[in-house]
Amino acid sequence: MKICICESCHYTFRYPILPPSCPDCGHKKVRLADKNEIKEFHRLQAILAEEIRMGLYAATG
Ligand SMILES: [Zn+2]
Repeated sequence: MKICICESCHYTFRYPILPPSCPDCGHKKVRLADKNEIKEFHRLQAILAEEIRMGLYAATG
């Protein structure tokens, strides 16, 4: 899986290939995330996983 980022809305997502357009906003400015963006993506994933584990994500939406 690649980690891709949309230059328009900065949506960061995992995808098997670099998609032609952003799955969120539809813009065609999608590129591969750089080192720092990948790091940030994993950091946010970890926070989200922790919130789900503690039941906060469901409670706060
Ligand atoms: Zn986008």
